[in-house]
Order: sequence, then structure tokens, then C-alpha cells
Amino acid sequence: MDFGLKGKKAIVCASSRGLGRGCAMALAGEGVDVVLNGRTEETLKATADAIKSAHGVEATYVVGDIADEGIRGQLLDHAGTIDILINNAGGPPPGNYTDWDRDDWLAAIDANMLTPIDLMKAVLPSMIDRKWGRIVNITSGAVKAPIPVLGLSNGARAGLTGFVAGLSRQVADTGVTINNLLPGPFDTDRIRKTVETVAEKEGKSVDEVLTARKATNPMRRFGEADEFGAYCAFICSQHMGFVTGQNLLMDGGAYPGTL
Ligand code: NAP
Repeated sequence: MDFGLKGKKAIVCASSRGLGRGCAMALAGEGVDVVLNGRTEETLKATADAIKSAHGVEATYVVGDIADEGIRGQLLDHAGTIDILINNAGGPPPGNYTDWDRDDWLAAIDANMLTPIDLMKAVLPSMIDRKWGRIVNITSGAVKAPIPVLGLSNGARAGLTGFVAGLSRQVADTGVTINNLLPGPFDTDRIRKTVETVAEKEGKSVDEVLTARKATNPMRRFGEADEFGAYCAFICSQHMGFVTGQNLLMDGGAYPGTL
């Protein structure tokens, strides 16, 4: 199937590792030039090099924290006109509701709600002018079924989800689609960090908790970043032009609801 994306350009935020990297790699595989971002130059450069050699597209990057307004400005200036925006950032730290003060909440809301909103606001006018655009926000399965240890994430992402539900319909007649892609458990550095916290709390080894966590998934495994990336690229494809405002779960069947 031809996704119809050859020659398009994408910003993929927080994309040196994990799910963001998976999305950048899959888009590049469809002939999309990608602009990457992350806070560590070494891993960013390695990912850009891997993408270029695998797919022969342009892969450049801007180093810095995506929650920083100045970095977002640099990223947008560097990228110029884009067709696709993949919003992503590291998730807020795990913990307990008793640990989090106002500053913790503001940091979570800033990175996982206000940052993607700001980037959507910046890129929408040009996408609307050109009557085509794809925006995918990487959120979390925790939006549908909260994970107590990730309370900051549950809260901040719910805010983004509510905003996107309205915005996506407001621009639905312009050729721009906005959808959220909700990962369940994926085998990345992020899940290992979350599991470390749980292991410490429960006095178990990390491997023990990882094995137990995999066993709870109907597929008895975690997802892979390249599976996530392929879904993201499909959402960005020409074939998904009639799908907007959706929260698309990819979790191996973990969410137990009928709908
Ligand atoms: P990951 O493996 O830890 O990778 C995170 C990536 O984002 C890295 O490239 C990291 O590079 C970059 N990054 C982190 N914070 C950043 C920031 N403030 N500014 C710019 N770049 C930043 O995480 P992941 O598993 O891919 O998760 C991606 C998102 O999905 C997170 O929000 C996470 O909470 C969410 N999620 C993941 C899972 C899962 O099972 N993996 C499940 C549900 C939700 P640097 O550290 O060098 O900046």
C-alpha cells in the first residue's frame, strides 16, 4: 500500500529514542524528510544517521527540551514549512499523589499538555493554507484507564485529550486531521524507569516486575517501537483523511472495555 507521503516533511518531537524514534523511522520509510528533537545530541545524531542510511531521506535535528519555548521556536524555524507534526515528550515521573506539589503539576502540564498545544497552534495556519496536514499526539493508554503511579501523566494528558477533541473538529473541514495515539506498554527506556519505581516500592527485582507486567497483557509481551511507528505512519497516510479527533489505542488488547 502506498501511504502517499513521499516528499512530505515532518517534525517528530522527542524522537532520539523509543516511540518517537519509531515514528520518525517509519515516516522516513515512507519517504518523509524528518526533523528530530531530543535533549541529548549524541543519541539524536545517531538516530538521524540511522534514518538517513536506512531510508535516504533528509534527517536533521534540533537539540533541546521541547517544553522550552525557545527550543520550540528553533525547531519550527529550522523545519520551515511542514506537513506532519508528531507531538511527543518524555512522560512525567511516576510517584504518589502525596509527593506532587504545584511545581510538579505545572511541569507535567507544560510538557504534556501546553507544549503540544503550542506546537499545533504554530503549524496549523500553514497546514490549513495548503489544505493538508497530519498531527498525531503521542499520549498514553492511561488516558482511557488511569495508571495510579503515573497520576501526573493521567491528569496532564486528559487535559490535552479534551482540547484535541474540540480542536480536531474545529479544523476538520480544512484537510488537517488531528488524532491521539495511545501507547499501552512498549519496550522502551520509559517503561523500565516506571517499573524500577514499582520494583523498589514492592521490594521486588526489576526483571520480576517486568515479567509479571508482561504476563498481564493479553499478548503476554510489550509492544515494539517499530510497531508503534508503523501505526503512526499509517495515521499520517492519505488513507486516513476521514479520521480525526480519535484516541487510537495500541496496547495488545490490555484495555478491557468492549468499546
Ligand atoms: P523513552 O524511551 O524514554 O524516550 C523518550 C524520548 O524523548 C527520548 O528520545 C528522549 O531523549 C526524548 N525526550 C524526553 N523528554 C524530552 C524533552 N523534554 N524534550 C525533548 N525530548 C525529550 O520514552 P517512550 O517510551 O518512547 O515514551 C514516549 C512517550 O510515550 C512518553 O510521554 C511516555 O510517557 C509515553 N508512554 C510510553 C509508554 C511505554 O510503554 N513506553 C506507555 C504509555 C505512554 P532525551 O532524554 O535525550 O531528551
